[in-house]
Amino acid sequence: MATRRIMVRVTGRVQGVGFRPFVYRQAVESGLSGWVLNASEGVAIEAEGPSERIEAFLARLRSSPPPQARVEAMDVADLPPGGARGFEIRPSARSGDVTAGMPPDLAACPACLADIADPANRRHRYPFTNCTDCGPRFTIIRSLPYDRERTSMASFRQCPACAREYADPSGRRFDAQPNACPACGPRLRLVDPGGGEVEGDPIAGAAGILRAGAIVAVKGLGGYHLACDARSEAAVCELRRRKRRLAKPLAVMFASTAEALRYCEADDDERVELESVARPVVVLRRRPGAALALSLAPDTPDLGSFLPYTPLHHLLLREISPLVMTSGNAADEPIARDESELGGLLGPVADAALVHDLEILRRCDDSVLKVWRGGRLFFRRSRGFVPEPIRLPAGGPSVLACGGDSKSVFAVTRGRDAFLSPHIGDLDEYRSYRFYEESVTDFERLLAVRPAIVACDLHPDYVSSRYARRRAGVRVVEVQHHHAHMAAVMAEHGLSGAAIGVSLDGTGYGPDGTIWGGEFLVGDLRGYRRAGHFKPYRMPGGEEAVREPRRMALSVLTEECPRQWESIAARLLGPWGEPERQALAELVRRGVRSPWTSSAGRLFDAVSALLGLCQIATYDGQAAVRLQAAAASGGAAYPFTIDMRDGAPAVLSFGEAVREIVEDVSAGVAAAEISARFHQAVADGVVAMCERIGEAAGIGTATLSGGVFQNDRLLGACVDGLKGRGFTVYHHRAVSPNDSGLALGQAAVALASVGER
Ligand code: ZN
Ligand code: ZN
Ligand code: FE
Repeated sequence: MATRRIMVRVTGRVQGVGFRPFVYRQAVESGLSGWVLNASEGVAIEAEGPSERIEAFLARLRSSPPPQARVEAMDVADLPPGGARGFEIRPSARSGDVTAGMPPDLAACPACLADIADPANRRHRYPFTNCTDCGPRFTIIRSLPYDRERTSMASFRQCPACAREYADPSGRRFDAQPNACPACGPRLRLVDPGGGEVEGDPIAGAAGILRAGAIVAVKGLGGYHLACDARSEAAVCELRRRKRRLAKPLAVMFASTAEALRYCEADDDERVELESVARPVVVLRRRPGAALALSLAPDTPDLGSFLPYTPLHHLLLREISPLVMTSGNAADEPIARDESELGGLLGPVADAALVHDLEILRRCDDSVLKVWRGGRLFFRRSRGFVPEPIRLPAGGPSVLACGGDSKSVFAVTRGRDAFLSPHIGDLDEYRSYRFYEESVTDFERLLAVRPAIVACDLHPDYVSSRYARRRAGVRVVEVQHHHAHMAAVMAEHGLSGAAIGVSLDGTGYGPDGTIWGGEFLVGDLRGYRRAGHFKPYRMPGGEEAVREPRRMALSVLTEECPRQWESIAARLLGPWGEPERQALAELVRRGVRSPWTSSAGRLFDAVSALLGLCQIATYDGQAAVRLQAAAASGGAAYPFTIDMRDGAPAVLSFGEAVREIVEDVSAGVAAAEISARFHQAVADGVVAMCERIGEAAGIGTATLSGGVFQNDRLLGACVDGLKGRGFTVYHHRAVSPNDSGLALGQAAVALASVGER
């Protein structure tokens, strides 16, 4: 039989996930000789043996890699046979490459869970159990290459038993950098608000406190959670009061899929997502009458649900489930990470804390998504996905894209890969901004790049844009907000031709100095023109109109019902006194502190207020969430008009719809029906605009982006309507349609501008 000797180079996520021991086992089983090692951008293998066995070996590398590996490419080259004997894992200069060497944090694997459940196992009930298939990665890596001494596990010296596992290529803890056991690894403690350690088993102790209706801070992978009994109305209300979070939905962790299904409905796709190794919060629907606190998500039938992802979660949830598990922070600050930040939670918010001595080096909030038509609709892309890169349509010099100021995420590119940061939060919070600056430096260091191009939003006052302009010696590329939204969809799907970019959101700076947010742009990554927009209205009081949807409703009424607005506002909007209403109307009339906005989000706000669903919002998007939740199925669209004049952008108006809505509310028509008809009207209006613009420009491709498209009812109606008219439609699958997706679009636009020069 012919002997064959090959050299294989494997790239992708192949380090820190048990790839070499897997290769070793396959080679030994096949009786091949040679070696495997971690090379600079992946894994290198040399194998020699009978050619049939070499073929079978390659087939197995392709068909059954370790569960957490992501093989991108496998290059095979033949070498002259050399007569090597035996197979070994060679010590290697480990990779300093983020793509190969820095996986996201991985949920505890079934084998490790079996270890902690087995009373005879030395890791029985040990909360820091992990192996090459699972455990912390991104959050504990200080620097690359990924080696124990460069992680926060460095301070724990492995005991002889752990050291033996670490050195044994036949086991699943071979080279598992965070390998640990009760004898040598991190230790869990339960502490009281005074910082004193509570005696006894910490998990049993914490469960007892939770059962009594109190709040416990739990140190997780990327920061602290605040936990309480999700079935206890009193506990959930108390958590809301202490965290000053009135109504924004809280996520709930269930002990198992089976338990989640007792409280929520989930189809097969949703179950797959729940159980995926990234363990995101998946937005499910509460079962009617489910025994959960109503105040978990008072505005919507949806419930953000997730499963345990660390052994500590599994042990705790086995004692008490379901638990609210919400980010451990006060209001809009970043998630608390270390002992000093715990001080802000323990006492004022939490009655006790489950803490440990494994340092979290990177904050990483939970990811949140909805399964929509078999794929992901991200609300937040963070833990479990970061730092996995998103492949761009074209490469170029390294770019730092600064993102936006709310739901901030930045991106750093290297080659064709865009590395998006974890969720940072709203940059007007000083602590969030500090976190932002630190994270940019951290990403540049990890990726070993010094971007010469910095992309940012056009907004003159964005904190992120000012940061960009302060960076010395770089070329700053300013990208219009809605062009960035559009470009983000294009980047995700590798589109390069012209498209109609439908970008619907709350607020984005327009180059004409007004606030844009209901935009129909025609263009590509290199540029755009504003082909159309929603009819603009005044925002009385500027930002205050964002917090008070009733202000937008009043503004829309003064425009669309100029003769009856006073009586309508008196009946439908409030609680307001006559003088206050008049004062606001005066602002609108005179255009004082009342910028124009074409925002689709503000139109949803206005309608939500007219229906009495939300007069004053306590969190971003509340009025729209309530409006969507109210909608019944079906419903014929309210009318809309399109005003098209030569040389000017087309204007989409829902003035007629607003007048009919006011009549319907007055006639006692149910909000469910009105909301359904309004959603359909917006979708039909969007489709009609795209048809007109597409016809004139000869374009049959549309992209949908912007925070308004987190509304999956609207998204579905727009996708269906556009496809029905022959459009090729693209929307987000890899990043969120909200402002956390901006950085990806900015990066793509900046790279396209480089290609131009
Ligand atoms: Zn494991
Ligand atoms: Zn040990
Ligand atoms: Fe936006």
